[in-house]
Amino acid sequence: MKKQRMLTGDRVTGKLHLGHYVGSLKNRVRLQDQYETFVLLAEALTTHFDKPGLIRSHLREVALDYLAVGINPDHATIVVQSMIPEIAELTVLFSMFVTVNALRHNPTIKSESKSSGLDEMYYGFLGYPVSQTADITFCKAAIVPVGEDQLPHLELTRKIVRRFNELYRPVLVEPKPLVGDIPRLVGTDGNAKMSKSLGNSIMLDSSPEEIALKIRRAVTDPARIRKNDPGHPDHCPIYAYHLAFRKEGAAEIRESCEQGSMGCSECKQRITAAIEQLLAPMQERRSYYAGRPKRIDDILVAGTERARTIARETMLEVREAMSLNYF
Ligand code: ATP
Ligand code: MG
Repeated sequence: MKKQRMLTGDRVTGKLHLGHYVGSLKNRVRLQDQYETFVLLAEALTTHFDKPGLIRSHLREVALDYLAVGINPDHATIVVQSMIPEIAELTVLFSMFVTVNALRHNPTIKSESKSSGLDEMYYGFLGYPVSQTADITFCKAAIVPVGEDQLPHLELTRKIVRRFNELYRPVLVEPKPLVGDIPRLVGTDGNAKMSKSLGNSIMLDSSPEEIALKIRRAVTDPARIRKNDPGHPDHCPIYAYHLAFRKEGAAEIRESCEQGSMGCSECKQRITAAIEQLLAPMQERRSYYAGRPKRIDDILVAGTERARTIARETMLEVREAMSLNYF
């Protein structure tokens, strides 16, 4: 039986962090043999069109992150988004099926636009969930591993796909989101989301010193001033990290924090060690591939070519369904 497809991607605005890992990467690695897997390096032009150098410099870094976490290049197809023109073509067609109001009321668009600090939204930014629909549908992905912030976008994708299939012919596949164990990992600054653009992240390639520093500087329960004050783990990012990366010890941490019997510094040391341990094998794989830049380029070229062939096939079906196949 033919395997179903899985597609997901990341904006190449910077190296990937622990939030990406628990929200999405972990599921990709776990499921990569069960599904025919596609991973998209998304150039993030909707916010970074004016920083071409930055995107260029991060493209291979994010590819390295994929290989580091264990995405197997012999099985998974790693794709450079802008080299698939069919994605742009599908974006234009799909933009007919969605109202401006639906996009403006999308909660993720709202919060990202607020944090961008711009007074007005660019047309392309407002419509990025539509181009994401094109990202997902070009290969007819059935499942999309994502963090929780992506759920409103996936809902829109499903709507667009249903509309297309009803209006014309059932060509497209309605994808299901798959949210990771930790739907939204908090940032070290206590912000609800660890995010590349907020500088509150622990990157997957952080050295032990960098991890220790980030954790040392991370905010904790603001009500806990002295070591023996009883803490509120549910208000502490460090406890959230224990749940995410050291689950077996989390109950003990909760208890001793609430009783004030363990200080923040010991609690931080334990999580630092656990994160170090998680990242060490990833970093070993990272340095293996980092020493082989030609291999990385070969992987990206082969993946993109393969995706292009599939995108062409889908595009042909889409054009036929819409009666755009004149000659
Ligand atoms: P940017 O600030 O550039 O948007 P980002 O950190 O939000 O960066 P994306 O490339 O937009 O990262 O997200 C890629 C994937 O990782 C998405 O599925 C997203 O939901 C997931 N993800 C990102 N940050 C987190 C997080 N803190 N917790 C869980 N999932 C996350
Ligand atoms: Mg994002």
